[in-house]
Amino acid sequence: MANSWRRERWDSLRLLTPNWQSRLPGVRYEGADPDGYMTMGEVTELIERFAKVSRAPVRTGVNVTSVSRADGGYLVATSDGEIAGRTVVIASGACNRPSVPALSAGVPASVARLTPFDYRDPGQLPDGGVLVVGGSATGVQLAAEIRRSGRPVTLSVGEHVRLPRVYRGRDVLWWMDASGVWDQRYDEVDDLTRARRLPSPQLVGTLERSTLDLNTLAALGVELVGRLAAIRDARALFSGGLRNVFSLADLKMNRLLDTFDEWALTSGRDAEFDAPERFAPTVPPDSARLQVDLRSGEIRAVVWATGFRPDYGWLDVPVVDDKGHLRHDGGVVDSPGLYALGLPVLRRRKSTFIHGIEDDAREVIGHLAGYLATPE
Ligand SMILES: Cc1cc2nc3c(=O)[nH]c(=O)nc-3n(C[C@H](O)[C@H](O)[C@H](O)COP(=O)(O)OP(=O)(O)OC[C@H]3O[C@@H](n4cnc5c(N)ncnc54)[C@H](O)[C@@H]3O)c2cc1C
Repeated sequence: MANSWRRERWDSLRLLTPNWQSRLPGVRYEGADPDGYMTMGEVTELIERFAKVSRAPVRTGVNVTSVSRADGGYLVATSDGEIAGRTVVIASGACNRPSVPALSAGVPASVARLTPFDYRDPGQLPDGGVLVVGGSATGVQLAAEIRRSGRPVTLSVGEHVRLPRVYRGRDVLWWMDASGVWDQRYDEVDDLTRARRLPSPQLVGTLERSTLDLNTLAALGVELVGRLAAIRDARALFSGGLRNVFSLADLKMNRLLDTFDEWALTSGRDAEFDAPERFAPTVPPDSARLQVDLRSGEIRAVVWATGFRPDYGWLDVPVVDDKGHLRHDGGVVDSPGLYALGLPVLRRRKSTFIHGIEDDAREVIGHLAGYLATPE
């Protein structure tokens, strides 16, 4: 139970969603710090508590080895026997494997390579420089932690989502919730494919509720470079145009803050909050390096913070597209009786977050119940 939170996360990780938001049906945070961020131990405890409250017949330590069509339903083969049923809900998660680009093959063997699943703390890295590839939640958090351990860090940043931790005195995720951004439905989103691929926001959950954006990292001494475009003859080649990448992220952040301000005004709640503010633009380095020689000894380790992907290796039903994603419409998978939950923007923008499951599950299970009510 809570396998991913127990085994696939680094030691210092805290949720980036505030405690009050870590709610599951019948279970909510009841501690003294609703605005804090849970440690992995606390998340595990929350999920264990939910398992008790829900009284679902949970079978732990059981691996599903295949799901296939059989007799008008599905046959689920597990490490502990078979289960047959008319319906199956795939809730195996969106982040089962680190997503590492094929160009990683060009990193010379003398350089250590880690994914966020391998990484626990900076102590396991060799001394010397570290290249962190990816500037979203995982990348910025690991870059900051590794830099604070005294190692020189180079962070390769592509398209990213910049957010302040606190806006007008409230957690930025409070604003997402209150203003309805997080409830925006999948059938109202302009470009759903894009929304489903959006990188995680640059956020960290710390006791100080501090912002962790690229300006913060640069101030810590992290060197910012562009997107890793290729590795040729052991040379990491980075895209130029960081200034544009940064302005785009700043622009999108400001648009989102405009949405919050507008909501505060139209909902008549504006006076409850501090005055609207805008944050300093992200400062590009004077001249960002376009390449680094990975054989020179400068970089001793590469950390691939390039995202995560689901793993459907066990799914023997032809519903996975050539990019490895399930074909589904709001969790109703392209095979009668098969459903999914917990995937990006499944039904709402909040679908992959802990607090996002409840609304999605209600609708998806409603559909499932209707399906079961029809004669076979
Ligand atoms: C680094 C990181 C940080 C995150 N931080 C936050 C955060 O701060 N706040 C937040 O709300 N969300 C956060 N998330 C998103 C988080 O993953 C989801 O909120 C939540 O874990 C999704 O729950 P889930 O049950 O859908 O998927 P998961 O938590 O991934 O659980 C899926 C489970 O299915 C199991 N499984 C997969 N395949 C099989 C199989 N074949 N047989 C048996 N079991 C299988 C897995 O082992 C796992 O236990 C984070 C994700 C990552 C990767």
